[in-house]
Amino acid sequence: MGESLKTDYLIIGSGLVGMAFADTLFTETDANIVIVDRYAKPGGHWNMAYPFVTLHQPSSFFGVSSKELSRGVIDQIGLNKGMADLATGDEICAYFDDLMRQRFLSSGRVQYFPMCEYEGDGQFTSKLTGETHSVDYEKLVDATFLTIAVPSTHTPNFSVAIGAQFMPLNDLPTITEKPAGYVVIGGGKTGIDACLWLLARGVDPDQITWIRSRDAWLLDRANTQPTNAFFHKSVGSIAAQYEAIAGASSIDDMFDRLEEDGYLLRLDEDVRPSMFHAATISKPEIEQLQRIKNIVRMGQVSAVELDRIVLAGGEIPTTAAHIHVDCSASLERSFAHKQPRPVFDGNCITPQMIRAYQPAFSASMAAYVEVNYASDGEKNRLCALVPPPNHDVDFIPMTLAMMMNQFNWSQDKQLRLWVRANRLDGFTKLISSADKEDQKKMDILQRIQNNAMPAIAKLQQFNIELLDKELLEQELSQGTKT
Ligand SMILES: Cc1cc2nc3c(=O)[nH]c(=O)nc-3n(C[C@H](O)[C@H](O)[C@H](O)COP(=O)(O)OP(=O)(O)OC[C@H]3O[C@@H](n4cnc5c(N)ncnc54)[C@H](O)[C@@H]3O)c2cc1C
Repeated sequence: MGESLKTDYLIIGSGLVGMAFADTLFTETDANIVIVDRYAKPGGHWNMAYPFVTLHQPSSFFGVSSKELSRGVIDQIGLNKGMADLATGDEICAYFDDLMRQRFLSSGRVQYFPMCEYEGDGQFTSKLTGETHSVDYEKLVDATFLTIAVPSTHTPNFSVAIGAQFMPLNDLPTITEKPAGYVVIGGGKTGIDACLWLLARGVDPDQITWIRSRDAWLLDRANTQPTNAFFHKSVGSIAAQYEAIAGASSIDDMFDRLEEDGYLLRLDEDVRPSMFHAATISKPEIEQLQRIKNIVRMGQVSAVELDRIVLAGGEIPTTAAHIHVDCSASLERSFAHKQPRPVFDGNCITPQMIRAYQPAFSASMAAYVEVNYASDGEKNRLCALVPPPNHDVDFIPMTLAMMMNQFNWSQDKQLRLWVRANRLDGFTKLISSADKEDQKKMDILQRIQNNAMPAIAKLQQFNIELLDKELLEQELSQGTKT
């Protein structure tokens, strides 16, 4: 048996969520913290990411609250030209490593146990020495709930014949010989990244077959720029979003309006997206991806064989000389089996999404609420769950929950000030520092104010329609209604 430890907070997971939570806890208290992780370094899945990965949002509001990640530059070249820098995977790993060593460990208040598997009941075991440690803690923070599957470590849910060339996109840079063609499997963020990487390296778009079982609504990165130069675009897109929702006559009409107003984008104007995973993209990236014409929409892959790929809706030919690129790890497969829990439940805290698209801000705010509010009831009211989206219509409960949280937070002055000062927040500081003499900016803010409540009411109406439809479908499938 190894050491017996005593701590205020035992945090499982040193990925984005564990680090963002620990950082705010560290700032707000003088508590002692033990962090346990099965990986060798902090940063979670970013340690396993493909070599050409970058954030899809600006670095300036990713990471932890106390430490800047952005290099403060605007990209001058490439498909993100004109917009704020996007950290690479290496930069993110170095950032978390530096944070762990320079801020946490050097304080003496944090103990870090990498390469250790948490087994429950305050016990964890080193994968290197086999020693089991036991921790007597006040609070347990389960920072593993938002863990997402990534191509390099997940198991595909289809079979692959021996002899077929099959690799996660991580291995694309190891290719030494031109294949007969590339088959990219997966239409999400990693599928997009694989296709963009191939195209940027001169691969003929006709050499790429892209299996997209579902098309996705995408977010425009130009709307996520938290700087004054982009005020009209970024803050304007919030106004446009609320207007589109408030004015919609039906759920379909809402998506049409969101697209018309530039809030949502799609890759193919002839195909109505049915998925929404909140992936963010630039318009030049979309133009590149539209060069690929061999799009396969036959549902999910069930087998990659030597001469054909079998899909739910048919099959397509392939050969052993083709490279099949696995980009099929998905949010859906990461979250589908997970039952959401309250963030605060006695001595267990489970950080989850409380603001859509922003896991880092969500984790930081959970830590702030933990130390500044008394009862679990009050804490959970402020940290109501925002359900992760998968289908297009999941945009509705997600946006509704996010707007309700935002409203609750705005009623609490101290919390409002904290949110504004948090670098992970992104937009509140930009909005609140708008020059009152600038009429164009004031008009945008007025549109937000005029449309927020009507948008909430419309989302509530659409949400009831969705729940009614779900109930009807359940009754029909159980034969209790004909
Ligand atoms: C390609 C890609 C791009 C992304 N881009 C963005 C972006 O631009 N903006 C954004 O906000 N988000 C982005 N994300 C998501 C974000 O980075 C986080 O990955 C996500 O919120 C999950 O973080 P996490 O800390 O919960 O999970 P992880 O990174 O998976 O960390 C969980 C940690 O828990 C540890 N762990 C789990 N179980 C145990 C156990 N039993 N014992 C010990 N340790 C354990 C794991 O080793 C791991 O280190 C992106 C994700 C991907 C895949």
